[in-house]
Amino acid sequence: MKVDLHNHSYYSDGVFSPSEVVRFSEEADCDLFALTDHDTTEGFVEAQKTADELSVKLVSGVEISAFWRNMTIHIVGLGVDVDNDILQDGLVHNQQLRKERAKKISLGLWRAGIKDALEKTQALSKTDMLTRTHFAQMLIREGHCKDMKSVFRRYLTGKKPGGVRVEWKNIDEVVGWIHAAGGQAILAHPFRYKMTQTKIKNMLIDFKEVLGDGVEVVTATSTDEEISLSNQWAEENELFSSCGSDFHGWPNQRIQIGCLKDLPNDDNAIWKYLPC
Ligand code: AMP
Ligand code: MN
Ligand code: MN
Ligand code: MN
Repeated sequence: MKVDLHNHSYYSDGVFSPSEVVRFSEEADCDLFALTDHDTTEGFVEAQKTADELSVKLVSGVEISAFWRNMTIHIVGLGVDVDNDILQDGLVHNQQLRKERAKKISLGLWRAGIKDALEKTQALSKTDMLTRTHFAQMLIREGHCKDMKSVFRRYLTGKKPGGVRVEWKNIDEVVGWIHAAGGQAILAHPFRYKMTQTKIKNMLIDFKEVLGDGVEVVTATSTDEEISLSNQWAEENELFSSCGSDFHGWPNQRIQIGCLKDLPNDDNAIWKYLPC
């Protein structure tokens, strides 16, 4: 089985349209594919149309920003009913937080001498969903930084000019939105947060306690050690395992749709429990 359950389009911070990413998944021979934009399911209708044309098995999805112990983490919802009101009310809430944050980022950058940041960033985005990636692109384009890594470090995190704290809803509430929409809640890329292994383990215990369903055991950047550890923790907590590339389509990145290492234990693979 070739499965990729974590991908972005330009409805959040990806480069390509939903239709284009579905096409890439077909070219990569994926047996199962999900579009999981940040805090929106707006791209799903277009993705489904192309998936039907190409006979791609598409799972509806979304990647929702959430809080665990006052730290931002990401929860992927898979197999959600995109018309569910509870889910959509939750996503609208997060979209509103993003709009407020975008204004604050812009103000912070203005104080640092960078004018019209909001307008310039909005001009780069295909939708009004602004992520920090859009601000990063703008800052690189305007010559303030040379690459993504340095722009996040110098401008978009912590106490830096465009570092803004957002209070997302806690994991129990976000898991609730996904369940209300009939979906499975997957803790995304456990090793991508600035957390010690002990913290990650505690996060997974808490995630199970709030009825989370699974954890992303394999992402495009996972090392063998990370895969083995997260698989072990998934088993210990009776969580399903998932895999996804977190493809955004940015240039200078080697991440490709469907190019993933195997799950160590696919007996508890989440895709056995997804409608498609
Ligand atoms: P946001 O959800 O708007 O805060 O933006 C988070 C997104 O920015 C993540 O999904 C990544 O795609 C990207 N991102 C976050 N930190 C970094 C970083 N240090 N370097 C490159 N991209 C990053
Ligand atoms: Mn992203
Ligand atoms: Mn993420
Ligand atoms: Mn992602």
